[in-house]
Amino acid sequence: MDLGLKEKVALVLAASKGLGRASASALAAEGAFVTIGARNKQALEMAAQHIQRESGSRVLAVPTDVTKEADLAAIVAATTQQFGHIDILVNNAGGPPSGTFATVGDEQWQAAFEMNFLSAVRLIRLVLPHMRPRGSGRIINIVSTSVKQPIEGLLLSNATRMAVVGLAKTLSVELGPENITVNNVCPGRFLTDRIRQGHTVKEKMAQGMSEAEALNELAKDIPLGRIGKPEELAALVAFLASEQASYITGTTIQVDGGLVRAVF
Ligand code: NAP
Repeated sequence: MDLGLKEKVALVLAASKGLGRASASALAAEGAFVTIGARNKQALEMAAQHIQRESGSRVLAVPTDVTKEADLAAIVAATTQQFGHIDILVNNAGGPPSGTFATVGDEQWQAAFEMNFLSAVRLIRLVLPHMRPRGSGRIINIVSTSVKQPIEGLLLSNATRMAVVGLAKTLSVELGPENITVNNVCPGRFLTDRIRQGHTVKEKMAQGMSEAEALNELAKDIPLGRIGKPEELAALVAFLASEQASYITGTTIQVDGGLVRAVF
């Protein structure tokens, strides 16, 4: 299926590795021109070179910390300077640290708010002037299945990602008349550094398990019986960015191998 993404311009944040990088790769593989941002310049440039080689499309790397307003303005400006406009925004960021209500203080709340919510607000504000004149746009937020079923020990993620869902749903109504769609994708458990270095795997390794054993344990309550591959999340991102997804907005869709038991 041709997703109609050839020469569309996509901006993907937190994309030097993991789910962001897989999303950038999926869009570039469909012929989109892609800008990727993350903090570590060397890792980002290596990712850009790799995606460009693999896809044959154009990839721009702009070192960006999503918590810094000036960096966000700079990556949007660099993208429009290089490619002329922006059709697709994929909001993504690092995950906030684990913690419970008793252990998390104001400083951590503020940091999670800035990384996982305010970054999305700011980026959407910055890209809209480049989407509006084209009469269409796609905004996709990578959140977490925690918005369907809160995850124990991940209070900051559970709370801040719900704010993104509220934002997206509201914007889907406000931006619908301008043909700009806004959707959320919810990863369950995917094999990235985030999960390898996460508190659950660390706890199991501290009990004497190998990393592979710890990951196998994590797959036990997933109906499909395995951890996801980043490209399986990226496939939904590319679809939501596509021409075929033109009538889908305001949705929050999980890609989780059946992990979430809730019906809605
Ligand atoms: P990952 O493999 O650790 O990759 C994180 C990416 O984010 C890297 O490119 C990192 O590069 C970048 N990043 C981190 N902090 C940043 C910042 N302040 N500004 C810009 N870029 C930043 O993580 P992942 O698994 O792909 O996770 C991506 C998002 O999905 C996270 O929010 C995570 O919580 C969420 N999620 C993941 C899973 C999962 O199973 N993997 C499940 C649910 C939700 P730099 O460090 O160089 O900046």
